[in-house]
Amino acid sequence: MHERPEPPAPDDLLPLLRSAGDLCERIYERMGMGDRHTKADHSPVTIADYACQALILKGLAQGWPGIPAVAEESGRALRGNRDLLERVAAFCSEVDPDIDAGNLADWLDRGGHNGGEGDFWALDPIDGTKGYLRGGQYALALAWVRDGHPWLGWMACPRYEAGKGCVGRIFAGGRGFPAREWSWRDDDALLIRVADPDSLLQLSLCESVEGSHTSHERSAAVASALGLELPPLRMDSQAKYAALARGDAHLYLRLPQRRGFRECIWDHAAGTAILEAAGGCVTDLNGRILDFGKGRTLSSNRGVLGSTGRHHSAALEAAWKATPEEARWT
Ligand code: AMP
Ligand code: MG
Repeated sequence: MHERPEPPAPDDLLPLLRSAGDLCERIYERMGMGDRHTKADHSPVTIADYACQALILKGLAQGWPGIPAVAEESGRALRGNRDLLERVAAFCSEVDPDIDAGNLADWLDRGGHNGGEGDFWALDPIDGTKGYLRGGQYALALAWVRDGHPWLGWMACPRYEAGKGCVGRIFAGGRGFPAREWSWRDDDALLIRVADPDSLLQLSLCESVEGSHTSHERSAAVASALGLELPPLRMDSQAKYAALARGDAHLYLRLPQRRGFRECIWDHAAGTAILEAAGGCVTDLNGRILDFGKGRTLSSNRGVLGSTGRHHSAALEAAWKATPEEARWT
């Protein structure tokens, strides 16, 4: 009989994620907003995105050989830009001296798998690149996907504030592993769990900072239909899923700004695994579970709703009503 590969335990990946996250912060200290380049689709990318993807994919290939990866970046742009390639390779070699300008693009291209059924990694090396550049939130987001479902997820959020003076968190959880969080340098984990406030007045809805990624206007209508009074908690990246998983927020809405838009699997796989492991719930705006087995995008889903479970159907109904017929996601 065909044997299934064994996924890692959550703790196995902490050193790799910490060293990649530390490198991102060092790159930011040295380059700041200057580390902004533009991809063919006009979206921003940084040296840190490329360096982080190469380091993580190399670490995964060595630890779990034979498991393919679906990752956001590729080596193509760097092959046509020798200067950028060398700068990325120089930062990578601070952490892993075996990465150089000769092999960097090949390590990046290991993320070119098309997804689908079976087991594979889904990686967004820097989810929330715009947040990273603005000094906001970002997440190194990694998931083990099995048969269309995020089996295990990790998110390293070097800037997540979990109390006064307590910056930097790693989150993980999935099938057979309750959701946990680690402070940036400490191996002792805390269990985390979704939490509902006593009253709707304290219920916090979170959404993207970027109004082009979700409709702020329609989510305000949803909040008002639900009777919420707090202003939305705007945060970049999948750190929003972590905010729900640890009880800092209670609803996460992503309302598509254009009809044909499809979310990328690496933007939701890690967050979904962690939020579900913390007792929360994730569906699209039609109430369907997210299907990560359809390729590199969530092609059978429209938009996203994350919740603690309790207000899920009320929020789905309010989102439907708040969306004009011509913009609905059928
Ligand atoms: P966030 O930080 O939650 O705003 O999400 C960042 C992610 O949004 C990026 O990784 C992009 O892949 C994704 N993204 C880019 N354009 C759009 C769009 N038009 N609608 C929704 N998500 C998008
Ligand atoms: Mg992303």
